[in-house]
Amino acid sequence: MPTYEYLCTGCGHEFEKFQSMTSGSLRKCPECKKHKLKRLVGAGGGIIFKGPGFYATDYAKKEPEKKVEKPKFKKGPAKKPIEK
Ligand SMILES: [Zn+2]
Repeated sequence: MPTYEYLCTGCGHEFEKFQSMTSGSLRKCPECKKHKLKRLVGAGGGIIFKGPGFYATDYAKKEPEKKVEKPKFKKGPAKKPIEK
């Protein structure tokens, strides 16, 4: 039986639950009784909600490059760039 990891977005309660794959996902949080549970990882399900890794790293790589290309305007007394 797969173990499912749940996170309550309402109160932040996190726990694991043994479930059969046919029983469906839980909705109700045992702590705050709200229907705010989110299933994080299905050990046997194959669906991971944390996001695909390649996309995350690709996005992270692009971030610093943009920062480098961004020109810094120095406050210099000599020249003032003409822009409109
Ligand atoms: Zn909760």
